[in-house]
Amino acid sequence: MGSMSLKKFLLLSLALLLGVKPLPSAPIVDEEYPVVILGGGVAALTAAVQVSQAGFQPLVITGPKPGGIIVQSHSVRNWPGEIEISGGELADKLQKQADACGTLFLHGQVIDVDVSKQPFVFTVQSSENKVQKIRARTCIVALGALPKLLGVPGEQENLFSSIFTCAPCDGMHFKNKTVAVIGGGDSALTEAHYLSNLAKKVYLIVRKDEFRTIQPKYRDSVLSRPNVEVIYNTTVSSFQKNENDLTLTLSSTKKPLTVHGAFLAIGSLPNTALFKGKLELDKEGFIVLKNQQETSVPRIYAAGDVSDKVYKQAMTAAGDATKAALQAQEHFGNHLILQTKSPTTSIQEIDSMDQLRSVISSSKKPTVVYFYSKSCPPCRSFSPTFDTWATQLSDKAHFVKARDTVADEIFEAFNIRAMPSVVILDTKGKPIFEARGAELEKVPAILQHPK
Ligand code: NDP
Repeated sequence: MGSMSLKKFLLLSLALLLGVKPLPSAPIVDEEYPVVILGGGVAALTAAVQVSQAGFQPLVITGPKPGGIIVQSHSVRNWPGEIEISGGELADKLQKQADACGTLFLHGQVIDVDVSKQPFVFTVQSSENKVQKIRARTCIVALGALPKLLGVPGEQENLFSSIFTCAPCDGMHFKNKTVAVIGGGDSALTEAHYLSNLAKKVYLIVRKDEFRTIQPKYRDSVLSRPNVEVIYNTTVSSFQKNENDLTLTLSSTKKPLTVHGAFLAIGSLPNTALFKGKLELDKEGFIVLKNQQETSVPRIYAAGDVSDKVYKQAMTAAGDATKAALQAQEHFGNHLILQTKSPTTSIQEIDSMDQLRSVISSSKKPTVVYFYSKSCPPCRSFSPTFDTWATQLSDKAHFVKARDTVADEIFEAFNIRAMPSVVILDTKGKPIFEARGAELEKVPAILQHPK
């Protein structure tokens, strides 16, 4: 296969993986997040849960259907606490757990990354071609892997019409038909098992005289199925599409094999094209780890199939992700400690209008109210700035904070619908300026040069 066609395939697969639907919940505009996680599979979701439970709401940038390659697994038998679970069910459980922890999700395609300086910047494109820049103080890359192709004649032309890479996704087209599965690893066994429940006949084409498997018992049970036949010591050298079927030329025999469809299960390639020249990759494209899960760029971590070319298990991906999340938290935790020690954090928190009125009446200066939420990443980014203003401009105004859920009465009184927001009140309590988003930058100038 030429490099162009592989590139096209990788881009298509990347688009599928990183998705196309806009975010259904509140819009996320160009913002900075403490932890951005790229991916939607076991590693990404595990990292999200870990980071969320430590109190840092992460943003996960993923496709419309998070889950990753595990959803292709019909049967997972080595996940802790589960005797047997389908990959789809496991992915659903992880997704629910991440949602319950308050993880933010952004569905879109990452089209560019700038990791040359901090904060890192990710350019994300939605299906409506809306482009957002997401800034991150730390990042966990968990983009998984893309299916490998054979690179033989007839493959590209028939990809996704007669040749597929995911039996649970496309197997239903082959009810009572004949299919071939190419590969000799656990994925090939899983695909063959799935298809044997639907198809009349499943040929398994294996290039060696044995399978490469971590589950010999499962291999034996798949191979004992009456409609599964293994063709060992054989490779496919071309595909030819006919009107209703597909002919495979095989290396071991002059007689071609005619089936209705074929499934490739010959391993995967790390999904790291975005990071070429930006993070250190090995010659196969896997991210090189330098310090536990940390990559060649400090504060960027990798987990799962993007950096693991040996074990590639859901469990090992989850373990990597947990380590990556703990490393990211470590960095962020230090920041919080520094902020806590800072003299700028002693800004009064108010929770009622009575309290606000009392602040205004006791102050001869304007009052600046900062409306925020603990679960709002942009607020976390903005809070240090507000704290700095409070120190630097203490002679100009009195600074207070109002947090959602505890200061609802004040939010209602000022009709605050977005956070972070800042309202400047004159000495009588009358609002003279309200800011959010880019307008927040104007607050110091207004305090320094009141009209
Ligand atoms: P693997 O890399 O383990 O196996 C790839 C298979 O494809 C090998 O048999 C390999 O042959 C064959 N192959 C590679 N290139 C070609 C080619 N050009 N032509 C013909 N055959 C080729 O990939 P898998 O996707 O199967 O598995 C990846 C990892 O995921 C493994 O660690 C596996 O254990 C795990 N996994 C676990 C599952 C579970 O627990 N339920 C399910 C699926 C996967 P050869 O052996 O000759 O190199």
